[in-house]
Amino acid sequence: MPAVTPRQWTTLPTVKEPDQGDKERAILHLVTAPSLLEGAGFPVRRPWPTREIGFRQADPFLLLDHLGAVEYAPGEAKGAPWHPHRGFETVTYIMDGAMEHHDSQGGGGMIRNGDTQWMTAGSGILHDEMPPEELVSHGGLFHGIQLWVNLPQKLKWTPPRYQSLEASRVTLLASEHGDALLRVIAGNLAGYQGPGVTWIPVTVIHASIEPGARLRLPWPKQFNTLAYVLAGAGTVGSDAVLIHEGQGVQFGEGEALTMTASQTAEGPSQRLEILLLGGEPIGEPIASYGPFVMNSHADIVQAFDDYKTGKMGSVPAVELKKTPSADD
Ligand code: MN
Repeated sequence: MPAVTPRQWTTLPTVKEPDQGDKERAILHLVTAPSLLEGAGFPVRRPWPTREIGFRQADPFLLLDHLGAVEYAPGEAKGAPWHPHRGFETVTYIMDGAMEHHDSQGGGGMIRNGDTQWMTAGSGILHDEMPPEELVSHGGLFHGIQLWVNLPQKLKWTPPRYQSLEASRVTLLASEHGDALLRVIAGNLAGYQGPGVTWIPVTVIHASIEPGARLRLPWPKQFNTLAYVLAGAGTVGSDAVLIHEGQGVQFGEGEALTMTASQTAEGPSQRLEILLLGGEPIGEPIASYGPFVMNSHADIVQAFDDYKTGKMGSVPAVELKKTPSADD
């Protein structure tokens, strides 16, 4: 897993472990992510929303798709052709391989090997998310996630915004004992700030924990907290719940997070690769239909109308020639 993985962790700033008396969070819900097909037919694992971890449990995170890790054969890689979004943010983090992106405002670029694209759809935008031509024709390794972060009602109409968070800008930290690497993509961990600017308080971290090591982190009390295993196996929470690749959890209340990496982790990485997500819950009603996440059914009806009448933008002519639109 290239992501951003320096050879030496010893020179990185370290995050001090929480005090012994700090309350460690237990696990409220564990889910094995079901597999499904997304976009033009690429497989994803989606730990939430699910029956176990629904919108209320995941708040402010709406959805997580785990893409790969997969070794594509030539001609096999697929993406998501032009489609709209309104009312939330899409966060695409690519650990291996690349994804190409264009939007109706002329933005876009290549997301690869540890880059993150943080797109605020807000009032509405159209975009496509496609494997680059080289990955389609030659095949290759691909591994990433897409996370949807909700926006409160008062921010759902904010103008679209695009943040390209290159891998080199990720804030790299080590655990107190130097046996875990912490990549802060957005938000704050123990006073260290990630590059992503967020509308609501949200922290997104990709941690790599050495086999057999235990990671203890101070964590904001007010955050609802989720974790998802990208690779490897280990335990999470105060009661050391067993967890492995493709499983997600919601933590309970507390001010410290604990997890350990298994000594005998299977898979391509011996480390436990885990995504840690914290955010202040929004606590509003959610009306969700396909690419739109609003507060009421009427909002959704309006979103479809606005999309059909071009109020969310239109596919740039130069892009229209290259890829079919989602309506074709
Ligand atoms: Mn999309």
